[in-house]
Amino acid sequence: QGGLDTALLRRQFPILERQVKGKPLVYLDNAATTQKPQPVIDALVEYYSGYNANIHRGIHTLAEEATAAFERTRDTVKEFINSACREEIIFTRGATEGINLVAYTWGRQHIRAGDEIIVSTMEHHSNIVPWQILCEEKNAVLKVIPINENGELLMEDFEKLLTEKTRLVAMVHVSNALGTVNPVKEIIAKAHAVGAAVLVDGSQSAVHLDIDVQDLDCDFFVFSGHKVYGPTGSGAVYGKLSLLESMPVFHGGGEMIKEVRFEKSTWADLPYKYEAGTPNIADIIALKAALDFVTDTGKERIRQHENELLALATSALEQIPGVRIIGKAAEKVSVLSFVVDKVHPQDLGILLDNRGIAVRTGHHCAQPLMDFFGIPGTTRASFAMYNTKAEVEALAAGLEKAIKLLA
Ligand code: PMP
Repeated sequence: QGGLDTALLRRQFPILERQVKGKPLVYLDNAATTQKPQPVIDALVEYYSGYNANIHRGIHTLAEEATAAFERTRDTVKEFINSACREEIIFTRGATEGINLVAYTWGRQHIRAGDEIIVSTMEHHSNIVPWQILCEEKNAVLKVIPINENGELLMEDFEKLLTEKTRLVAMVHVSNALGTVNPVKEIIAKAHAVGAAVLVDGSQSAVHLDIDVQDLDCDFFVFSGHKVYGPTGSGAVYGKLSLLESMPVFHGGGEMIKEVRFEKSTWADLPYKYEAGTPNIADIIALKAALDFVTDTGKERIRQHENELLALATSALEQIPGVRIIGKAAEKVSVLSFVVDKVHPQDLGILLDNRGIAVRTGHHCAQPLMDFFGIPGTTRASFAMYNTKAEVEALAAGLEKAIKLLA
């Protein structure tokens, strides 16, 4: 298995041909959302121009075709994260909706006054706020695993936080702001030992790492399709079958019912019990094209390529005076956050954009993490399968020029 042919690969992503401010686009904001390859765009167009119909209820041909395509994505997601059965895959609009689904169903069912939920310092707001809302409602307690200066979890402190009161550990697999890969398998085993359930936020891991929910033994795993080269408005929750079967419903409406009577209604079987209303049919259908694209390209080859870019970018940035990298975990994916002495990230972002270079600046929806580092935000470059060494060099050169202007 050779390396990635990025020139060939880039031809599959039409947006990469465009110019920004008269310069070729250098897209380094992949942790926010990835660009979409032609098969994903084609899948959207084919659905809307060929077989647009509502799913599950129709007996006509278009409805049957749309239903079959929609359900094929479920099988692909099942394979992609290696769940035991397709009924464990619930479609959502993304990770945020997935975490809220678990908070409002499992959370309402299991969390009582005095119970404890553990998150980490490096969580995205979407894996903090739903638990805060739940804790407030139930008089439960939110506890936070501290991290070190490299942006790694302090595992001994985690073990001290685990008690017989711990009901849930909600943990990001890979930090969007730092790139840290957390030892979730170990965390899950330790949490299970005290009887706590574990939700893994796979928003950043699904695209970079091989995911095996059975091997991890997590109770829930959520991710967003748009960060895995798929459409916005697509995502999934994996939940263990026994949990999904016994949890109360989330949204009420069509699709999620067996029978509706004014006296009492009954719920549909899994997975439809949690899929009320008309979903993002086209986006879910096209998600299959995205996951197939990643699998066919080869996750291991993609990872090797991205890691090379990360290593190159890290050493290039370390040589620029005034640049300080935030997040130096031993295990990282291709996310590079940094601050520059006397320079505001936003100013840096604007100057880089003037050179066609797209990076993200700000708190990355991780304000408590920024507080820990004592900074308002960072500038973040995040690399995907289609990025090149030349683009990393463009970033470093652009950064040097911008710093000369700003510092
Ligand atoms: N968790 C993490 C770690 C993320 O990076 C993101 C997206 N930035 C989310 C959750 C939320 O994902 P979405 O906005 O797609 O629902």
